[in-house]
Amino acid sequence: MSLSFEHTTLGQRVLFGSGKAAENLAAETSRLGAGSIMVIASDFEMPMARTVAAGIEVTLWHNEVVMHVPIETAHAARDAATNARIDLIVCVGGGSTTGLAKAVALETGIPIIAVPTTYAGSEATNVWGLTEAARKTTGVDDRVLPVTVIYDAELTLSLPVEMSVASGLNGMAHCIDSLWGPRADPINAALAAEGIRALAQGLPKIKNDPAGLPGREQALYGAYLSAVAFASAGSGMHHKICHVLGGTFNLPHAQTHATVLPYVLAFNAPHAPEAEARAAAAFGADTALGGLQALRELLDAPRALEDYGFTEAGIAEAVEVALPAIPASNPRRVTADNLAALLTAALNGADPKTLTDLS
Ligand code: NAD
Repeated sequence: MSLSFEHTTLGQRVLFGSGKAAENLAAETSRLGAGSIMVIASDFEMPMARTVAAGIEVTLWHNEVVMHVPIETAHAARDAATNARIDLIVCVGGGSTTGLAKAVALETGIPIIAVPTTYAGSEATNVWGLTEAARKTTGVDDRVLPVTVIYDAELTLSLPVEMSVASGLNGMAHCIDSLWGPRADPINAALAAEGIRALAQGLPKIKNDPAGLPGREQALYGAYLSAVAFASAGSGMHHKICHVLGGTFNLPHAQTHATVLPYVLAFNAPHAPEAEARAAAAFGADTALGGLQALRELLDAPRALEDYGFTEAGIAEAVEVALPAIPASNPRRVTADNLAALLTAALNGADPKTLTDLS
């Protein structure tokens, strides 16, 4: 088969090293010639941020972080940055914190150094997200791509196993959805496959030894690859569904991704044999769904959307909002009926295999 594709590689510096975040941050702010630095971290993340920023001069500490970036919090952070004449943002935290930094960058163009403390992967994408009036909007803008990412697995040691599992499976969702994303190509597929392999190896190690670094490092490496693949391939069916569940129903991001993923995989896999084979090989399993489900079992992964506050009453609205957003390139035709069936199965934690034969 001949190869023909178009691929853009995003430019970003990555510094990876356990226990090195403070040293790397000091060197990087100096390399970038920053004059006035704003550190964004939630109240919970602030002690980590203060340790990481110990070697730099900080003009402004900002802690008003809210999941899914409500527009009011974005405007408050933007105004604070503008008033303090900030020329570099350092965000230390999970995807919500990175998301707030991106919202400021979107309007001001201020560069970001991201220091992630979960496996959400937002630090490696040029995707921003904002929530206004119960609708989450996302967009792509290179201004929000952090110029540098500093990965330090020690910062993730405090992430409880349950959250590590959910967050790691959020990374896994980036990888799998990339395989049939609207701009899927051989390069992002290679990154996605290595991301699946790294996360599938790292997450069980975290579960068995939460205080050990090897699993944390593997998961962080996998999370980075997953996000690079996702940024390149674009949002597929899985992300369009989860984005509605998060933005409209305020479900927790990582747990929602972790729950919905096997359903979308079961739904699409029979119609996407190349993606299926690629994912199966990366899991080292006979089938992609078998590999994912064995991993989820091992990790005691999130099981049903009803556990996170979603109810049957929300299905019709979720279908109405998500259906038009699902890319036409999805390997299987999505209808209001089969999407409702998928959401119902995910709501109840039913066996995903029931979705394989739906028309
Ligand atoms: P989060 O940032 O909301 O963090 C979840 C919780 O974990 C928070 O209470 C946080 O304080 C805590 N936490 C963070 N790091 C910790 C640590 N090391 N130890 C203990 N607790 C810690 O959740 P998330 O899943 O990281 O991010 C979700 C958000 O990121 C969503 O808004 C989602 O839309 C966004 N996101 C965006 C992209 C993108 O490309 N734009 C990609 C992935 C996620």
